[in-house]
Amino acid sequence: MEEKLIKLLQSSADRSLLQSDLWKSINSNSREVSRALSRMEKRGIVKREPFSKDSHKTYKVMLLKKEVRVQISDVVWCSCFTCPDLTRCGMSQPISPENCIKLTMSLRNEYLKYQRAEELKKTVPPEKK
Ligand code: SF4
Repeated sequence: MEEKLIKLLQSSADRSLLQSDLWKSINSNSREVSRALSRMEKRGIVKREPFSKDSHKTYKVMLLKKEVRVQISDVVWCSCFTCPDLTRCGMSQPISPENCIKLTMSLRNEYLKYQRAEELKKTVPPEKK
């Protein structure tokens, strides 16, 4: 439900739509969409403002969060991308991310790399303009 709502809002011209149009567009009902939007509003994904249309009260729903774009370079460090066991791996399976040494090590190495970069930022003074 939330994904559908976000996609609809993203495809609109100004990233906003009327709540009364949203539930019709996804073949849902006003109550379900209202609940979903309320949850999304609490998490800061959307903002709703009262709006009157043809003497009916509704909300204008605005998408707040920008689309998160993940690039391959952001995740290529993960051992799963080159793992020969990928197709047999799954939660609660004999081969599982829950007990995978390769995944643990790649996460650890990435974390250490991040930590080193953060420490380096603290020691190098910002460039003068
Ligand atoms: S969690 Fe481990 S076993 Fe599973 S795909 Fe990733 S690296 Fe391979």
